[in-house]
Amino acid sequence: MALIWLLVLLLGIAVIAHLRLSLIPALALVAVYLLAMGAAEDVPGWLVGLLWLVLIVTAVPLLVGDLRRKYISEPMFDWFKKVLPPISDTERDAIEAGTVWWDGELFSGRPDWNTLLAYPPARLSEEEQAFLDGPTETLCAMVSEWDIAQRMDLPPAAWEYIKEQGFFALIIPKEYGGKGFSAYAHSQIVMKLATRSGGLASTVMVPNSLGPAELLLHYGTEEQRNHYLPRLANGSEIPCFALTGPYAGSDAGAMTDTGVICRGQWQGEEVLGLRLNWEKRYITLGPVATLLGLAFKTYDPEGLLGGDEELGISLALIATDTPGVEIGRRHVPLGAAFMNGPNWGKDVFVPLEAVIGGRDMIGKGWMMLMNCLSVGRSISLPATGTSAAKLCSYTSGRYAAIREQFNVPLAAFEGIQEPLARIGGNAWLMDAARTLTANAVDLGQKPSVLSAILKYHLTERGRECIRDAMDIHGGKGIILGPNNYLGRLWQSAPISITVEGANILSRNLMIFGQGAIRCHPYVLKEMALIGESDREHAADSSTSCSCSMSASPSAMPPARSCSG
Ligand SMILES: Cc1cc2nc3c(=O)[nH]c(=O)nc-3n(C[C@H](O)[C@H](O)[C@H](O)COP(=O)(O)OP(=O)(O)OC[C@H]3O[C@@H](n4cnc5c(N)ncnc54)[C@H](O)[C@@H]3O)c2cc1C
Repeated sequence: MALIWLLVLLLGIAVIAHLRLSLIPALALVAVYLLAMGAAEDVPGWLVGLLWLVLIVTAVPLLVGDLRRKYISEPMFDWFKKVLPPISDTERDAIEAGTVWWDGELFSGRPDWNTLLAYPPARLSEEEQAFLDGPTETLCAMVSEWDIAQRMDLPPAAWEYIKEQGFFALIIPKEYGGKGFSAYAHSQIVMKLATRSGGLASTVMVPNSLGPAELLLHYGTEEQRNHYLPRLANGSEIPCFALTGPYAGSDAGAMTDTGVICRGQWQGEEVLGLRLNWEKRYITLGPVATLLGLAFKTYDPEGLLGGDEELGISLALIATDTPGVEIGRRHVPLGAAFMNGPNWGKDVFVPLEAVIGGRDMIGKGWMMLMNCLSVGRSISLPATGTSAAKLCSYTSGRYAAIREQFNVPLAAFEGIQEPLARIGGNAWLMDAARTLTANAVDLGQKPSVLSAILKYHLTERGRECIRDAMDIHGGKGIILGPNNYLGRLWQSAPISITVEGANILSRNLMIFGQGAIRCHPYVLKEMALIGESDREHAADSSTSCSCSMSASPSAMPPARSCSG
């Protein structure tokens, strides 16, 4: 009988923890139960006494502030401080970037589905719908993946149409001559283009994703915005963005590219500027770009700006015809025809006005990148991943219905039904995730963790759909030609896996690492307290977090937005 009392006690404690009762009601319930236990005849007195002792030893330090600080907060705080590795500025910027939205609920283990359902559904405006039905359809009809692969480029008429119709200006506001479309519209357009040609979608995606336009919109000076945005919108400037290089891929912050503050000649005058040396590779649109967005580490050895020598990462806009800028031979990314290649510069001098945001934003480039990364990552690759799933679903379903073997359609075989079902399920799920996240961006979020979840899962599942579709199509998917709508997708699937944060890294560092830290209501606060100089106050605040974590119903966050 005593065993049953004990089991019920343990179960009760588990339920209290699950319901996240606050401390005093939780302790009171346990005390009442122990009283009942003591009154029962079949429970030995020594057991009840032992349980009271455990309760008192646990409760007193939690309830009495001074004891709590001395015996819980300070030792815990010292231990946490010892085990937490030092966090660099770039790591802190990455962790704190963007916002946490409803995704925070997922990490709580008890998401509030009503909050999710209360968000307004994603909708296209009339103008956006017309663009999707008009110019987007027309552009799709102008190209064929086979033809693009033969010429290893889009046809000239398609390039012209892209510029003329504002496909490079989806995210640029109307006041600068852009389309000013919503994230959802942007996602719909890229998704449709990608069902026609991956090369076409990549060409359109890049200027609308993280790059000069997005960075200028958020951080550019008024002069920079007025000068560049209309030119980017009408296609007279083709942008690219060069962050990674031969020695710094996933670990982009480890770049060896430098900009040294110095005086130099610019348009006949001596001005304060940057002497840039860099080597970048794999840069999309690099071979045709007229405007290069460049990330580099900034140094001021002569103290010309009057501050530190090492200033951090900065971002600058450089015309590709600036003396010293070299554009290398074009890369061929797994046979895909979009423009990609290396570029480098030796002692290229530009004035300080070339830095995005001007002098004030020198050294703030990493923070700028981290804060803007999530928006593009919520849209481009999730859209192309979903397009692959939809294309595979559409074509595989139909092909399996008309192709017969053993005198029956392929679709009659259970072995074929299995991948067909997987593709259908994935396509539905991916489209829901894509729409929700694009909508989050339209609702003003910069969902850093959600965008990493999307990037990872929608490209992985896109690859899974292509693999299933290839199996269903047999030889038809393998022999390349004008009628093969799958082979190129199969070939280029690893590109989406690798770009904008390679998938293994995205899963480990962003979904699990940043996700757990950002979506948890207290971990980030605890980490910030470690750096606080007032040890007593930090330890005290730290325990408040810990107590709330373990005992308060408010520990679980409502869907909220915590800007980093
Ligand atoms: C087609 C194409 C277009 C591109 N376009 C651009 C562009 O326009 N601009 C630009 O700046 N760059 C561009 N890139 C570069 C791209 O961003 C990098 O390729 C990418 O960041 C990965 O770097 P890497 O190739 O050096 O691989 P690595 O960084 O060497 O990674 C190799 C593997 O190790 C894994 N890994 C690395 N670190 C970790 C970690 N901490 N934990 C777990 N796993 C980890 C990665 O996930 C990956 O699987 C492009 C690349 C390609 C292929």
